[in-house]
Amino acid sequence: MKKVLAIFALILSLSLSLALTACGDDTDSSGSGSGAGNGSGSGSGNGGSPDVHTHTPAEPVTENEIPATCKDEGSYDEVVYCSDCSLELSRETKSVAKSTNHTFVDGACTVCGKPKPSDGLSYTSNFNGTCFVSNVGSCTDKNVIIPEYAPDGSKVIAIGKNAFSGAYYAESSIHINVWFAPYDKRSALEHFMKALYNVDSRTLKEESVYLGDSYNDQPMFQFIPLSRENTS
Ligand SMILES: [Zn+2]
Ligand SMILES: [Zn+2]
Repeated sequence: MKKVLAIFALILSLSLSLALTACGDDTDSSGSGSGAGNGSGSGSGNGGSPDVHTHTPAEPVTENEIPATCKDEGSYDEVVYCSDCSLELSRETKSVAKSTNHTFVDGACTVCGKPKPSDGLSYTSNFNGTCFVSNVGSCTDKNVIIPEYAPDGSKVIAIGKNAFSGAYYAESSIHINVWFAPYDKRSALEHFMKALYNVDSRTLKEESVYLGDSYNDQPMFQFIPLSRENTS
């Protein structure tokens, strides 16, 4: 019986110590828990709202603009800021197509080097954004240079039949020369050699070698017996 009592007493004391330990833990945790609970409760109620800000996108603005030229594409950044706090919300770089405007000085573009196209030509629309040269119009250029675009902005893609009837023309490897005067490479060279070097046509024909690589060299090939066509 004593043994039983002793065991019971031992179990009782162990239970008490466990209970005390558990109680102590509970007391501690409940104490800190209530403290944290009060702190966070009052903190979120008073101090939470200033940290929450919903950005309001303003109208996009343009930055870092690089204008397009007839030679190169341009670009710019489209940027959206918050109208309240000015934070940058988005930035997108956009490209701008090459300009069709050239800066012509002394018959050539100072930016891309293209020759100045002839003014006054007549165009007929294809009604799809393109057109063709239909007539010489009021153009009086001796050397006609077809523009890439007509004055209305449509792209010139062809020259109409008989558009330059009565004109002289010569086809080279890269373009067609059209002019309104009775001269060609032969007559121009004869004039040039006589005027500058006093070489007459007979001497030019008999003592020259002519090398050419284009269709518009044909008058010279026919004129100079020692001609060689070099198409390589
Ligand atoms: Zn904001
Ligand atoms: Zn240009």
